[in-house]
Amino acid sequence: MNLIIMGAPGAGKGTQAEAISKREQIPAISTGQILREAIASGTELGKSAKSYIDAGNLVPDETVIGIVKDYLSSDACKNGFILDGFPRSAAQAEALKKLGVKIDAVLSIEVSDERIVKRMSGRRVCECGASYHTEYLKPKKEGICDKCGKELFIRKDDKPETVLNRLKTYHEQTEPVIGFYRNEGLLVEVEGQEEVEDTTELVRKALWSKIKK
Ligand code: ADP
Ligand code: ZN
Repeated sequence: MNLIIMGAPGAGKGTQAEAISKREQIPAISTGQILREAIASGTELGKSAKSYIDAGNLVPDETVIGIVKDYLSSDACKNGFILDGFPRSAAQAEALKKLGVKIDAVLSIEVSDERIVKRMSGRRVCECGASYHTEYLKPKKEGICDKCGKELFIRKDDKPETVLNRLKTYHEQTEPVIGFYRNEGLLVEVEGQEEVEDTTELVRKALWSKIKK
């Protein structure tokens, strides 16, 4: 299955990508996570992306398109893939189409801006890419990652001002891409729930009926 997951910042794309990845045994790639790792390790890619991410703006299209191209041509993707957070602009969607990769479904997780702002204040993340929430997705031990035991922290771009700008960017640049996939007949819309497991179940059912059609 070749899948795209879309949704506002904090809608739960990464969490659902992970659940589907486990269930379907296909890899998930998060452009945001790749960029954050590049920043943490101080590579050229990281240096060029940092100011955009910290401000809540999109990293330039050429940069992320390059990352995704490399990934999709790798062996890891031969049995399917999940793109989490790509495409995020019309130019990115066009570039993906040009690559000629067949997409089976585009999942959009819908959450209102008001709930996004509330949720983001409780998000805690780990260096390893794991993401938690102080209310909705607690780690077993407070402040510590279940997966690797490291200390959780608040992402720099999760501060309220930056979240508002990320939402603005989402509405202006990413939402139009949803319309593009709706026209292509690929869109599957799911309303994000308070409880992660409830969203996971809705996503499972919605994708199942889409793919089996
Ligand atoms: P969220 O969806 O919660 O905003 P992500 O980890 O997907 O988190 O993205 C974090 C940041 O990384 C974005 O605000 C943006 O600056 C950058 N980024 C991620 N994916 C893309 C992309 N496809 N195009 C441009 N910038 C991106
Ligand atoms: Zn961790």
